[in-house]
This record gives sequence, structure tokens and C-alpha cells, in this order.
Amino acid sequence: MKILQNEKYIGDALLQKTVTVGFLTKKRVKNEGHLPQYYVENSHEAIIPKELFLQVQEEIHRRSNIHTGEGKNKRIYSSKYALSAITFCGDCGDIYRRTYWNIHGRKEFVWRCVTRIEQGPEVCKNRTVKEDELYGAVMTAINKLLAGGNNMIKTLEENIHAVIGETTEYQISEINNLLEEKQKDLIKLANKSQDYEHLADEIDELRDKRQTLLVEDASLSCENERIDELIEFIRKNKFRTLEYDDKLVRKIIQRVTVYEEHFVIAFKSGIEMEI
Ligand SMILES: [Zn+2]
Repeated sequence: MKILQNEKYIGDALLQKTVTVGFLTKKRVKNEGHLPQYYVENSHEAIIPKELFLQVQEEIHRRSNIHTGEGKNKRIYSSKYALSAITFCGDCGDIYRRTYWNIHGRKEFVWRCVTRIEQGPEVCKNRTVKEDELYGAVMTAINKLLAGGNNMIKTLEENIHAVIGETTEYQISEINNLLEEKQKDLIKLANKSQDYEHLADEIDELRDKRQTLLVEDASLSCENERIDELIEFIRKNKFRTLEYDDKLVRKIIQRVTVYEEHFVIAFKSGIEMEI
């Protein structure tokens, strides 16, 4: 996390991140307000492109929003099976976990709501799904998508967002101009040993605003990329019937929700299907 969130990798630097506190011991600690911090943009060449850095920030944000039953935040975003992290209970919202039943000494793989496993049917009654049925539902959705052929491609193309709209671009350049001015003013005040706290606050606010705009934009570009991938996939496979494949599912499926009588399969493109 330290590396992923360190702005030095995109060529910006936060000065005074650590300060020496013990004069004799030369002990350095994280600067938590002992000294003013000053954030310098483009202070050296970027190691990681800004866009990639922002995509990572977006992914960190997405993962921090994944919660499972009882406020627990489990490590469910990377997993052995493609469906482990993305199959949810339509009843209580918890995740579905792969487990097995022993039937006459033979293992049968099934998927069950974690709340139901851990707290019993009084808390969540949602059903146990046989693995074959779950995989079948996902493949029915994928094959329906392929059967949609060119019409499906057209629908997807309509979902592609305009990225860095003129307004966003304009807003960002306005903020950049303001920032440049305010940073100059701040240095002037600092050199005259005058109080510059209010200016530093304004600068922080402007940066937050710009960061929000950039992250929104990066997230739209990511979505577009996923839509493009799905279009490409349909073009290559239209009218074919595919078999279950973990790799394929990881690539194009966003989320599966289990209900009493049906499944909802969401693709990484905004398209949802009831199966
Ligand atoms: Zn449940």
C-alpha cells in the first residue's frame, strides 16, 4: 500500500514527510504536523505514468468498498476461483463460498451464502447452489450475449462514455492555473516568514478537487476499456456456444447474484442479465 499510494512514483513529492525529532539520536519520525508539509508537483521524472497511478487509486477505493456480512472486510478481491470474489447473496448481501458436500463418500461441490454457513438459516435462508448450476447460469448469460451478435455490439457501443469531456478538461486547467498562482504566493509568504496556513488549506482543497476529477475520468476510461474488450470478445465468438472457463469469467463477468429462483449476471460493461 505504501508503494501503491506513494506519489513519488508519479513524479510528485511531498517534502518534510519525515522529520528529525531527537537532536542527539537523529531519530526520524513521520511528520504528522510537527512541521508544515509542502507538496511539489512534477519535481522529478515520473516512474509510473499518472494514468496508471490513478487507476490504482481507483482500484484501492473499489476494494475499500467491498464489505461482507457483519461489517467484516474479508480478503475477497483476489481468489482461487473466478466466481469466489464476485458471487453474492441476493438475500443478505454476503458472498457465496465454494464448499462441498459428502454424498456417499463422493464430493459434490456447492456454493453457499457465508452468513448462512456461519450463522445458520435463522439469519439467512438463501439456497445452496450446485456448482454445475452456477457455472451453467453464467455460461447461459455469456452465450446469450454472443447470440446477440451485432445488435449486442451496437448496444455496447452506445454505452461508451465520452472521456475527458471538454468541461472536465477546462475545469482541470483552471484548477492548475489557480494552483500555480497560489503556490507562488505561498512561497512568497513563507520567505517573509508570514503565516501561510490559509493558503495551504486552499491549495489542498484545489488538489482534492482536481484529484476527484482525474479519478472520475480514469474510472470512465477503465469502463470504456472493458466495454471495448467485451465488443472484441463478441466479434470473435459471435454465434458460438462456449464452455465454462475460469479465465473467461474473470475477464468479462463483474458480479453474480443468487436469488431464490434466479441469478442476475452482470458483465463488466454495465449489461445485466436475469437467468
Ligand atoms: Zn445470505
